Amino acid sequence: MPTHLVAILADQLLLEHPALIHAQTLAPKTDIQVVLVESQARLQLRPYQRHKLVLVLSALRHYAAALRADGWQVTLIAAASWRAGLLHTCAQFNPDSIITMAGAEYNARRAQERWSSWLGRAVTVLPNRQFLAADVPATGTKRQTMESFYRMMRVRYQLLLEADGSPVGGSWNYDAENRKPLPKHTPIPLVQRYLPDELTLQVIADVAAYPQTYGDASTFGLAVTHAQAADALARFIRERLPDFGRYEDAMAADEDVLFHSLLSPYLNLGLLDPLTCARAAEAAYHAGLAPLAAVEGFVRQIVGWREYMYRRYWELMPELRTMNAWAATRPLPEWFWQGQSGMHCLDTVIARVWRTGYTHHIERLMILTNFCTLAGIDPVAVNEWFLAGYIDAYDWVMWPNVSGMGLNADGGLIATKPYISSGAYIKRMSNYCAGCRYDPAVRTGPDACPYTMLYWNFLLTHQPRLQANPRMGPAVLGLRHLDDAQRGDIQTQAVIWLQRLSEGTSA
Ligand SMILES: Cc1cc2nc3c(=O)[nH]c(=O)nc-3n(C[C@H](O)[C@H](O)[C@H](O)COP(=O)(O)OP(=O)(O)OC[C@H]3O[C@@H](n4cnc5c(N)ncnc54)[C@H](O)[C@@H]3O)c2cc1C
Repeated sequence: MPTHLVAILADQLLLEHPALIHAQTLAPKTDIQVVLVESQARLQLRPYQRHKLVLVLSALRHYAAALRADGWQVTLIAAASWRAGLLHTCAQFNPDSIITMAGAEYNARRAQERWSSWLGRAVTVLPNRQFLAADVPATGTKRQTMESFYRMMRVRYQLLLEADGSPVGGSWNYDAENRKPLPKHTPIPLVQRYLPDELTLQVIADVAAYPQTYGDASTFGLAVTHAQAADALARFIRERLPDFGRYEDAMAADEDVLFHSLLSPYLNLGLLDPLTCARAAEAAYHAGLAPLAAVEGFVRQIVGWREYMYRRYWELMPELRTMNAWAATRPLPEWFWQGQSGMHCLDTVIARVWRTGYTHHIERLMILTNFCTLAGIDPVAVNEWFLAGYIDAYDWVMWPNVSGMGLNADGGLIATKPYISSGAYIKRMSNYCAGCRYDPAVRTGPDACPYTMLYWNFLLTHQPRLQANPRMGPAVLGLRHLDDAQRGDIQTQAVIWLQRLSEGTSA
């Protein structure tokens, strides 16, 4: 009978899993039982996008198959909860000890601390090794900015550095060369679709039976194995990385991915390793296959933003979940789940979420959370919506991005300013406004773009607080051009508009 149980969480599908490596130092494979749990409590926690459910379940089942092919004894069990799954497996195998790796998410880690008392056996919880910053010492009480964190990570992992330790090309940041609008008729490479195999087709059938889910599982085409995820990375580096930086902030009504990598679902499940992604981009630069600005921009996202968010999550939890610096309490409009807002950008992006489970960063930030900040939507409701809708959503990455970067509900503990804009920004960076009944240049009246009206209303309402932030100063200065009558008109229209939004009778 096995003497050790290795319990691997569903978002830890690492090829070199620390718990497997550790268990082998204690016993031969024949004395180790690996357990993976399909927790129904977790899979039915909220009304998920079906692509997310298919991705997680199919990747988990493929992982179980890969471990078995590698000679491991694996139990993949569908149970009411992780606890029920573990109790059942312990009763079946009666292991002496359980080995696991700390979860990336707060609740998972807190639960792991209770496993020993639940199961009445020794439990070893190994440190999480899915993140490059996992063992970077904390900076104490002083908050580290993303930029200084990112430079530290570049040095730590010797990424894009000259022999003397200076950044390749002489600069740490090439944002000035990036972030252009997309010119008309720019050819955009197709994203590879991975045809579902038998196992994935079974998962698609299983997920169809889940109650209260959204989206069409039959259009699923994401990678579900390490090999497919590696292929997705290679294709991105070859086909889209060269233009990644240039069009990083561009948005297009008829393009889902543009030049983004669409790698977050795989990184967050453990199908891809962050350092491998960063090094692949660096190699493309050295081989002359992608410009430095694009490569630096991508490396910044992976070893900078992604790792920074994970770090800030752990520094700010659990309080992050209740932060609400702008006292935003309005319910999320029903049309985020179904229906129409009448704004072309929002409707297109929301439809994209329910069709694919993905939108790129600027659409998440400048269409979705921008609107929610300006409209004063309750951060918990916004987080719940994102957690349900996105294929790459997990607690550790959603709260810092939605409550921190997106809504500024943390009061600036993660990002240094609220990311808000009027319709003018959306018009500059996309083609959404061309197909919209509203005019982004108009602040009041029937044609006023709600983003523009709510943006000026937000500046007027929060002027003293915003002008104390040096990064918001120029925006607030714009208010000088408004006379009292214009200010009154904006605020009167905004009050009525927001009241109707709360009642579900407008927008
Ligand atoms: C409101 C909001 C919600 C978000 N929700 C999620 C989420 O649920 N899951 C998630 O992984 N990311 C989230 N992000 C961050 C970012 O938008 C996504 O990682 C990115 O859009 C994923 O698409 P991509 O793989 O094509 O990214 P690319 O644009 O190709 O970027 C490359 C990689 O960088 C990493 N990355 C870049 N920015 C961030 C960031 N701010 N936080 C974490 N990783 C980052 C991702 O791993 C991404 O795959 C969110 C951002 C915002 C503003």
